[in-house]
This record gives sequence, structure tokens and C-alpha cells, in this order.
Amino acid sequence: MSSQNEHGFGRERSRARYIHSIDRIAQLTDAEKVSLKEVTKRYAFRATDYYLSLIDWNDPNDPIRRLVIPHQDELIDWGDLDASKESKVTVRKGVQHKYKSTILLLVNEVCPAFCRFCFRKRLFMNHSDEVTYDVNPGLEYIRQHPEADNVLLTGGDPMMLRTSELERIIGALRQIEHVKIIRLGSKTPAYNPYRFINDDALIEMFSRYSKPERRIYLICHFDHPKELTPQSREAMRRLIEAGVICVNQNPIVRGVSDNPETMAELWNELSYMGVQQYYIFQGRPAAGNYTYEVPISEGYRKVEQAKRKCSGLAKRVKYVMSHESGKIEIVGLDHRFIYLRYHRAKFPEDEQRFFVCHRDDDAFWLDQLRPVSGYRNNYYRGSYRPAAPYIDQRIG
Ligand code: SF4
Repeated sequence: MSSQNEHGFGRERSRARYIHSIDRIAQLTDAEKVSLKEVTKRYAFRATDYYLSLIDWNDPNDPIRRLVIPHQDELIDWGDLDASKESKVTVRKGVQHKYKSTILLLVNEVCPAFCRFCFRKRLFMNHSDEVTYDVNPGLEYIRQHPEADNVLLTGGDPMMLRTSELERIIGALRQIEHVKIIRLGSKTPAYNPYRFINDDALIEMFSRYSKPERRIYLICHFDHPKELTPQSREAMRRLIEAGVICVNQNPIVRGVSDNPETMAELWNELSYMGVQQYYIFQGRPAAGNYTYEVPISEGYRKVEQAKRKCSGLAKRVKYVMSHESGKIEIVGLDHRFIYLRYHRAKFPEDEQRFFVCHRDDDAFWLDQLRPVSGYRNNYYRGSYRPAAPYIDQRIG
């Protein structure tokens, strides 16, 4: 007997299965599998059968394929495994504290699938030892820092933890009076929405801990409107109805999210679902990511074009660069200059500081921009690197 609810998802529910080897992807040719093996030896591959089913294999430019299937150009020697220098703000194993009010707990070193452009792909490598499965030292650190009113559970993806493990962490955080907001960063709604559809205990747990006076936030990661399937929409509906505040953030990725129509469609659709686009990130210069990068000035122009196609609610997004010195908003561009402002700053004196750099249409990252002389800029002393050395490392 069918027992579908009014949203079309019944008790005979599906689930996503993990695929760990490209050999299991029937749509790839043998030659493609051989050449991509070189890539997956360096940067791990992982997907769900659900997510792979969204690929149109007849379209060589399919954005979902681009997002999750390895590409030969990842072998271009470019970028840094720790592009935002997270090691410098790691205060204990699996604990990062960069901004006064926010502490990150890296609770897991795996995601349901791996985005090819991941800025933390180092976590998926065999030698990685950055996350902690014992959160007690992290909880103790949080207790000792009353200035931190919010905690972000990240990784990897915290939604890969069992519901009971997640509840243990969330329950412990709720015992700390000064922690008002608990955030979870997750791409599971896109990669495996069944996690939220099938697990009633998870949804019930969220509704118990996300209270009107102290909310739980889910920072989702949808990159493309194709990910907004009936299943992922149902997952988001369940989360929102459980009282979880859901927002979205994603990077600008060449071939996935780098055109204004795609951005606008994603932001508008999310706004209809009650999910605000929070940040769009400049891609970090992470190792293997050259093929996925979009220069800052191109990104700025496209974000502004996308905003023209959005309602006010859909375009509350900020275009930011998560740099080691802080989260820097790209606020303007003219024929000579790029205008920037610290939205969050590592050092208090930089908080909300506005500054100007010479326009360089090849620059992907702050370190490649040259500040206009006369502007106070602590960060730049001795750190400016022109764009060229990055580009010179391209193969071919
Ligand atoms: S969801 Fe985030 S952490 Fe996981 S693979 Fe993608 S970018 Fe990396």
C-alpha cells in the first residue's frame, strides 16, 4: 500500500548510495576512466548515485557533471592546499577561531560527495589529521571564550554524522549560555536530500533545539538550479518547518555557476523556498582549482548582472573573498580600480575597513591586487604578489 504524504514522498522512500570509484560510472568511456584515474589519485572522488542521476550525459557542459566528475585540468600545478591559511587560526585540533564571535568545529572529514573545486580538499587526503571526532576539547575551548556567541559545525559535512552523534554535540552546545547560534555548513541537501526526508528523528531533533530565542542555522550549499529537485526541495521544506533557518552560500565556479542567468535563477528560486542567498564566494586559489576559477573583476560584473534579474529579497547576497586576513566584500569596480571592504576581519582594526586596489582583470585573489598608494593597509606589507606567477604555472 502506498502511503505518500501530500508532498509526494511516502514511506517506501529511496536513499542515496555512495560511489567511491569512477570505474562505477557506466557513462564514462574506458579511456576517460584511465585518464581521470591520475586525477583521483591526487584529489579524491566521491559521489552519490542520486547526484549522478542529475547529470545529462549528452551535454558535455552539464554543470552537475562539471561539479562532481574529475577533470584532467585539476592536474595543473596551481594554488595551495590551505589557500585561506586555516592552519594559522587553528587553536586546537579541529577548532578554528578567526573572528571574535565565531568558532568553527571541524567535526567530520568527509562529505556525501566531493565538489571538485573544494577549498578543503586536503581533508579528504590520506595524510589529513585536522578534524576531531572528540569534540570535548573544542567544547572546553568554547566555554572559555564567552565572546563567541555562535559556533559553526563544519568539516567535511556535519550531516554525515549519525543523528545521535549530532544531537550529542548540539545538546552540549545548548548547555553553554553564551552560544546563541548554532550553524551547520552542509551540502547534504544537494548531494543526499534523503538524509532529511528519511530520518524523522533528525527533523524532530532540530525542532527541539531550534527555539525562537536561539535558532539553529543550516548554511546550505546549492551551486546550480538543477540541484533544486523535488527531493532537495522536500528536504528544505522539512528543515524550515522544523524551525531551522536556512540560507545558501556557494562559490563562483567556471562552468557551474559563472553566468548571471544561472546565479539569478538560483537566488530567485531559493527565495521562493524561503532560503536567502547569504554569500557568493570568490573561488579560493586552492590546489587543483585553476580550471574552476573566475577572475575577481569578471565575477563582480556577473554578480551585478545577476542582481539586476532578482527581486530585492533574492539579491541580499554579498560577493566576498574568504582571505586569511578576513572576509572581504568586493563592493565596486571602475575602469581603474577595484573597491573592497572588510566584512569580517581577523584583526579588529580592519573591521569594516574600505580600501582600493588597482584593477587587474587577471587577478583571482587579494594577494594579486596592488593597493592604491596612500591607502593604509596592514595586510599588504610585504605580501603583494602579482597575478603572473600563478598564471605562469599553467600547463600547456
Ligand atoms: S560540500 Fe564543501 S567541504 Fe564538502 S566537498 Fe563541497 S566544498 Fe568541500
